[in-house]
Amino acid sequence: MKQVPIEDRFWQYVDKKGPDECWPWRGTVGKKSGRGQIKKNRRHAYAYRVSWELENGRDIPPDQSARHTCDNPICVNPKHVVLGTQADNIRDCISKGRRVKRGKDLVKRKPGSGRRSLKKRDGET
Ligand SMILES: [Zn+2]
Repeated sequence: MKQVPIEDRFWQYVDKKGPDECWPWRGTVGKKSGRGQIKKNRRHAYAYRVSWELENGRDIPPDQSARHTCDNPICVNPKHVVLGTQADNIRDCISKGRRVKRGKDLVKRKPGSGRRSLKKRDGET
């Protein structure tokens, strides 16, 4: 089977507009995050992050997070995506008057750290 490169798959879902406008994602949108998603290396990746990576030709460093300058979660215009640290992100949220959820949202899950599903088959009671 021939693999379609991520670039090709990616751009077919993008409603490209003017260079400074928001480019809405027309593919899958995460229910919780409200952000565009695409499958990359068999995992779901956020579309705006992939957009940044394609534009810059490199991966987003693991200690950096990408955010929108336009506050539009489905926007994938690489011009509207900037990198920052988690701390930047939080500061940004606070300065915009958003409430920052403490706890689980800030904890990064390690990718591929194994799954914890030891299902016990106990059968009947
Ligand atoms: Zn935008």
